[in-house]
Amino acid sequence: MPEGDTIFRTARAMGRALIGKPVTVFRSTYPLLTRFDDDTPLAGQIVVRVESRGKWLLIHFSSGATLATHLLMSGSWHIYRHGERWQQPRQNMRIVLENAEYVTVGFRVPVAKMLNPHDLERALRIPPAVIDVLSEGFDAAEVSTRLLQCRDEEIGDVLLHQEVIAGVGNVFKSEICFVTATSPFCKVSALDLEKVEALVATSRKLIKANVLEDSGDAIVTYGGRKRRTTHESDPSASLWVYGRAGEPCRKCGERIRRRIQGPDARVTFWCQQCQPMPDGSFVDG
Ligand SMILES: [Zn+2]
Repeated sequence: MPEGDTIFRTARAMGRALIGKPVTVFRSTYPLLTRFDDDTPLAGQIVVRVESRGKWLLIHFSSGATLATHLLMSGSWHIYRHGERWQQPRQNMRIVLENAEYVTVGFRVPVAKMLNPHDLERALRIPPAVIDVLSEGFDAAEVSTRLLQCRDEEIGDVLLHQEVIAGVGNVFKSEICFVTATSPFCKVSALDLEKVEALVATSRKLIKANVLEDSGDAIVTYGGRKRRTTHESDPSASLWVYGRAGEPCRKCGERIRRRIQGPDARVTFWCQQCQPMPDGSFVDG
């Protein structure tokens, strides 16, 4: 699953390739998209905006229509020059959007819809900007309120609820809990308001730091925002806990634990020592 910051970077790159330019070619393997294109051809329209909203990538056209894609586990958008060789097989192509300079290709994009403005937010359950960690309109108080409503759920699960806080993926979930010294298995009802506010602020801070122009593609939480010049083959080298099961905690030296958590069976990493349960109980991993 691409993290919110990955989609944000994709949207930024797609925006640079597409915004302000007329579409020359639109193709898709999805009948609903091609039918929409038959009725209201995208060729000749200008791309006015490309944005990420939670895990949705939205391409807005001058007609008012929006192409919304959700990349889930498998999908990705690539940007090529005309004539450049694609990095995925042609049979993975789902959507092609071209202009005079670029060919953008959506590979194995599992969810794609064309929508009119008034359908947009409702039809896709696209998270509103106020709960999107990467949006200018982010409202920390609103997110804290939504989070506190999930009283009986574990915080490690709640951080992944896109209708509570949009843009936190599974890597960031573990990192945010570590940075705020929160056990991912703690029920929300056992967290005080100060802790909830710290979780919300840290979510935004860590994820925003990862979408700076110079932040590269790897997620970096440990080591601040210092950019490594050498290529790290192990992505967990720049993280506090994620992917580091069995290795020593970077703060206390205790063994980092790993456990499958929640109804969606997502993997969670944490340090028992640095992230105790409020009542002193232990969750083992
Ligand atoms: Zn520790």
